[in-house]
Amino acid sequence: MATFVRQAASITPHGNFGARIAIGQVLPVVTDKPETTTAVSIVELEKSTLEQLLADRGVERFRARQLFGWIYQHGVVSFEAMTNLPRGLRERLASDFFVATPQLVAREQSADGTEKFLLQLADGRRIESVFIPDTPANTFCISTQVGCAMACSFCLTGKMGLLRNLTAGEIVGQVRVLAETLGLRGKAFNIVLMGMGEPLHNYDETMKALRILNDPEGLALPMRRVTLSTVGLLPALERLSHEPLMPNLAISLHAPDDALRGELVPINRKYGVAEIIAACKRFPLKKRARITFEYVLLAGVNDRPEDARALARLLTGIKSKVNLIPLNAAAGIPYDRPSDEAIDRFGKILAERGLTVSVRKSRGRDIRAACGQLIVESDRRSTAQKLAAIM
Ligand code: SAH
Repeated sequence: MATFVRQAASITPHGNFGARIAIGQVLPVVTDKPETTTAVSIVELEKSTLEQLLADRGVERFRARQLFGWIYQHGVVSFEAMTNLPRGLRERLASDFFVATPQLVAREQSADGTEKFLLQLADGRRIESVFIPDTPANTFCISTQVGCAMACSFCLTGKMGLLRNLTAGEIVGQVRVLAETLGLRGKAFNIVLMGMGEPLHNYDETMKALRILNDPEGLALPMRRVTLSTVGLLPALERLSHEPLMPNLAISLHAPDDALRGELVPINRKYGVAEIIAACKRFPLKKRARITFEYVLLAGVNDRPEDARALARLLTGIKSKVNLIPLNAAAGIPYDRPSDEAIDRFGKILAERGLTVSVRKSRGRDIRAACGQLIVESDRRSTAQKLAAIM
């Protein structure tokens, strides 16, 4: 268990976080958590819940809006620094609430500008988030779990297994830390839930995080700027189709039939290709919106012309776009990246059949920040993690 430090040194006088963190140093987790065991992490709360908790304490509901403004718009995490709140209220807030913020442990920059952030959570667990500049927008690739239970055969994160779900506050916390550290607070950015974890396997916290990110008094992030990527957990996908707040949807398909997909994405043995495609056909899409189908290309495995033709047939009648992701190879991953010719040939077959195709540029491979390369070394490292570490 990491120690909590009250108002620790890395909080600036204005209460902003991040500015003075010594990169690469392992520090205790910094929060302003009071000693009381009942204190609530305020960043786990949607505004309506915070309003209720404040009302229970006889505090006006509009204070919740002010608190959201301070934390999400101004990056202030110390109640003391929230100068438009009466002093007495600030003191009460500081004894009843705290702002848990993931701590930046390391930051690595790729030659292509991509940056990988290693963040430590309150219990000492670590996750990675990635900043991808100019795609053309600035994009944050955010994790939803520590590790992942899906065990896709080509993905390093899958080798970690699932250590735990992230809380909504930890999911949003990655966005707060990246925006603050990169000087992007108040600027537009996109979010892709494509970091560690399967977002629909942590449904409630992921959706709560989206509601907090979307709050007009907070970051006011529009859902058209958010993409949720999933292997297609069917019951959760159905649930998502009824959400009032709807992010863009990306499905990690990777194969056009059950035999092949079952090998690559084990959960396919439970929720097969036909069911996922049927759910996609039913999925309510906004005007002009399309579902992205991600397809990791593995040399000699799923990159044959007949796979492309089968994929094109499968997607007929769906408002879709296909995102081809040439494998980011890694030690411990038993596949190779196809040749550029094979990638081109595959894409051409899809395009000739009227599909919109893009090939994902692999960003940040030199710092292992690319798709499927996020893995965090723990004290008890698995074989795969050790393999990854010696790459
Ligand atoms: N669990 C979700 C979110 C992770 S997104 C999902 O599977 O969609 C990460 C994306 O990168 C997925 O499309 C995943 O299949 C892909 N990916 C995983 N490992 C990869 C690798 N080694 N090379 C390229 N892409 C990979």
